[in-house]
Amino acid sequence: MDEITNQPPPLEPYDLFAGDAVLRDAVAREQAGWSTVKLAAFGKMLATPDTIRLGFEANRFPPTLRAFDRYGHRVDEVDYHPAWHQLMEIAVGAGLHARPWSSPRAGAHTARAAGCYMAVQIESGIYCPIAMTYAAVPTLRQNPALATEWLPRVFARTYDPRCLPASEKRSALVGMAMTENQGGSDLRGITTRAEPVGGEGERRFFRITGRKWFMSAPMCDAFLVLARSDAGLGCFFVPRWTPEGKRNGIHLVRLKDKLGNRSNASSEAEFVDAHAELVGEEGRGIATIIEMSNLTRLDCAIGSAGLMRAATAQAIHHAMHRAAFGKKLADHPLMSGVLADLALESEAAAVLALRLARAYDDEDEAAAVWRRVVTPAAKFWICKRAPALAAEAMEVLGGNGYVEDCVLPRIFRELPVNSIWEGSGNVMCLDLLRAVERTPGAVEVLAEELGAGAQADARLEALVADVMRRLARPDESRGRALTRDLALALQATLLLRHAPTAVAEAFCASRLGREGGVFGVLPAGTDARAIVERAAPVR
Ligand SMILES: Cc1cc2nc3c(=O)[nH]c(=O)nc-3n(C[C@H](O)[C@H](O)[C@H](O)COP(=O)(O)OP(=O)(O)OC[C@H]3O[C@@H](n4cnc5c(N)ncnc54)[C@H](O)[C@@H]3O)c2cc1C
Repeated sequence: MDEITNQPPPLEPYDLFAGDAVLRDAVAREQAGWSTVKLAAFGKMLATPDTIRLGFEANRFPPTLRAFDRYGHRVDEVDYHPAWHQLMEIAVGAGLHARPWSSPRAGAHTARAAGCYMAVQIESGIYCPIAMTYAAVPTLRQNPALATEWLPRVFARTYDPRCLPASEKRSALVGMAMTENQGGSDLRGITTRAEPVGGEGERRFFRITGRKWFMSAPMCDAFLVLARSDAGLGCFFVPRWTPEGKRNGIHLVRLKDKLGNRSNASSEAEFVDAHAELVGEEGRGIATIIEMSNLTRLDCAIGSAGLMRAATAQAIHHAMHRAAFGKKLADHPLMSGVLADLALESEAAAVLALRLARAYDDEDEAAAVWRRVVTPAAKFWICKRAPALAAEAMEVLGGNGYVEDCVLPRIFRELPVNSIWEGSGNVMCLDLLRAVERTPGAVEVLAEELGAGAQADARLEALVADVMRRLARPDESRGRALTRDLALALQATLLLRHAPTAVAEAFCASRLGREGGVFGVLPAGTDARAIVERAAPVR
């Protein structure tokens, strides 16, 4: 047989933690240094050939709906490839779905974010039920009796995929169903009905009837559902099984045939007289579920940052091993510029996402502003940059990057969804404008946060002055520019404070006060080699 030459070795195994200086530094900086030993072991375990293969298999054999059993009874179950379950076992076992709530301590949300950032690099589909379960906890706590009954199951770290009443299971996962056919952003149009059937005081029960156009991870053990009673929109907890041990009226109509995120099932669902319990105040459903939405938005930012890291690592690895025109691709000036630019974008996404995660640990006024105001900005900008980065990373691999043997096509297909769900781009910009107006101290906190960093760089100083002026008098039609610029200013501030000079300088020079464009147009004098070396994955 002919010898095959000039093909890079596969990037496996590699070390997702030890080989990622940006992640390691951020974990230490954002109060999660105590989790380093566990994260290091997790990062090593994740990128072994066996685990990497699970991600490919879970996507090659996507879930299928089994609506009925062989005798025609409704079962409304979804069958997954064993690889999906193994990946879920890894994520739940690591506590990515609940640990900051079950074992709270300073830096717990950061540590979990770091774990998620690594896990998505192997397979991102599982992140959907993991993120929803994590995000559901504060909302569940708004019904203390329900929380007492369900949170011990949610906090358990033994993944249990069986479709059984939760009381018979080792653990439970929680999904959410808000979006209807007629609208996902504008939830005021929800028509699903909730009729009261009894209960009193804290525990009030309803019957839910209506259709949800998207309900992901439909094998979750319960869902937080928005539905309308006579008091208006409410938030309801709908378990898969009724308290009497019967299958609840949650019919899975079909599974969506999606561009990416294929290992994860997303269903259309019909609620037929389904048993439900009110969470929060009746008629205040959006206010009740808002914290869940905010947390899922944080996870979109973390997930996209993780996938940007994975794509960048693949690109650098390939270019360091593949030669063309007499030298390694990474040594060609045009290519090293592209790689450095990918690394800059990836690092900026990671530092912002992990800084944001820390805000979910802290309790002061600044943290509240980060959570409420910066979350939509970070979600918007990181998720918008990610698909472009993945496309460029794919091109670094040439034809190999376009073929399904490589992880990049999967990453490329996956990324747009993080921008769409949990509040699409424009909705994030509108949310930012609303949040600035309604969050006490928002402008002052941002001014302080950005002001300190701005003194270090004249370009940043100019941008910050402009952002602060626009924040004080928001203009909806320029909402995207403002959201982008706030995110860029925060990224630049963090990089100037914490990254090597080559990184911070190239980021400010290429991104502040410019309209952007293709990757790889860094200013003359950029130390591309230093930037690429910093981002190179370690096998
Ligand atoms: C794979 C997948 C899984 C999903 N899983 C779930 C799930 O588990 N549970 C769930 O509840 N939902 C789920 N969703 C739904 C998702 O959250 C919605 O698709 C999303 O919120 C957008 O709603 P929509 O599709 O109705 O689009 P629309 O609300 O119709 O929005 C369409 C576009 O208009 C823009 N837009 C809306 N309002 C404005 C405005 N005022 N000004 C300017 N632009 C505006 C939006 O940004 C968007 O780009 C899922 C979606 C996908 C793709």
